[in-house]
Amino acid sequence: MLTDPQAYPSGLAWCCESPWKFMSLFRPNVDRIAGYVPGEQPQTGGWIKLNTNENPYPPSPRVAEAIREASQRLNVYPDPVATRLRRIAADLFGVDADWILPGNGSDEVLTILMRTFVDPRESIAFPYPSYVLYETLAALQGAISRRLPLHRDWSFDLKAAEATVAKAKIVFVPNPNSPSGNLWSSDVLKACVPPRGVLVLDGAYADFASGSTGSELLQSEIGERIVLTRTLSKSYSLAGLRFGFAVAHPDLIAGMRKVKDSYNCDSLSIAAACAALADREWLRQNTSKILATRTRLATALAGLGFEVVPSEANFVWATRRSGGHRDLYEGLKRQQILIRYMRFAGAANFSEDVYDGLRITVGTDAEIDRLLDVMKTLV
Ligand SMILES: *Cc1c(COP(=O)(O)O)cnc(C)c1O
Repeated sequence: MLTDPQAYPSGLAWCCESPWKFMSLFRPNVDRIAGYVPGEQPQTGGWIKLNTNENPYPPSPRVAEAIREASQRLNVYPDPVATRLRRIAADLFGVDADWILPGNGSDEVLTILMRTFVDPRESIAFPYPSYVLYETLAALQGAISRRLPLHRDWSFDLKAAEATVAKAKIVFVPNPNSPSGNLWSSDVLKACVPPRGVLVLDGAYADFASGSTGSELLQSEIGERIVLTRTLSKSYSLAGLRFGFAVAHPDLIAGMRKVKDSYNCDSLSIAAACAALADREWLRQNTSKILATRTRLATALAGLGFEVVPSEANFVWATRRSGGHRDLYEGLKRQQILIRYMRFAGAANFSEDVYDGLRITVGTDAEIDRLLDVMKTLV
């Protein structure tokens, strides 16, 4: 009966082959959102990819070895709480293993946080412009998103933020921030701790930062309201693996563990993550290469007339007064160079309506040379 168009008003049957599709089966929250759109991942060769902050260097060779070994035991379920991984990660942060919760990428950790702490109609907050995913996750949960205004130099407008922070169940702060790459001090972060909620310090780029990213707040008097997140996607060159984790007081982790899927991380990724986290020398060498290239990229872009925010991450945010950012992005794309064109509507203090610019990932020296050569022909 349901599939019979005759059962529906004739106008509907006439205008559409499948009239029953007019009645959405989705939750209103799902209907309302556009869905998060990640950066382009071309599936053909020949591209220089500087658009999703991946690491241009390969992961530690110990990773492949660990995966090969773990593949001998795929007939059994993984360790649901990733005991060995938690011990290794805990050592890096000077905490016990019950302070760690692994996830299928740190994006999954963000989803777990949202589902653990935020009820529909409660609110979350985050600086704006920053990571767009927080808003999408909140919408899916039926929660309210509020933006914390920044000054034009990317410092927090703490006075304007106060009332919003006070109402939030979670405040998300990427530190270093994306797309700007700037780092906020621990004093500023303290002012972002909601009185009846938690502050999530999204440390996706923490390994590239020269100063503190706020992890010492875990051990402070507000430590029970702090959650750090980390990913292996950027600094550890493992974006294809999907592994991240949260570091927080065991009471918070215990609640999050109830929400996560029993086997949210597979045996191969757990084994690989253990190997990657243990190879500190590999991390150090790759990171220092990226930082050297970052300096070169920022200097060259400034020479081409861009304003470049001093970056503490593996990308730079470049804008120019004359605008035309989208055209530059398109011009590079025609030469098979992908960077990220980003636009932010309603960014207080930044512009009246739309603020936009270019986020460029730090690639290898050769990739950055090529980018700069083409950019010179476009500016
Ligand atoms: C890349 C990124 C993440 C996601 O990392 P995954 O572990 O790959 O899911 C989280 N937060 C920010 C700010 C990021 O840029």
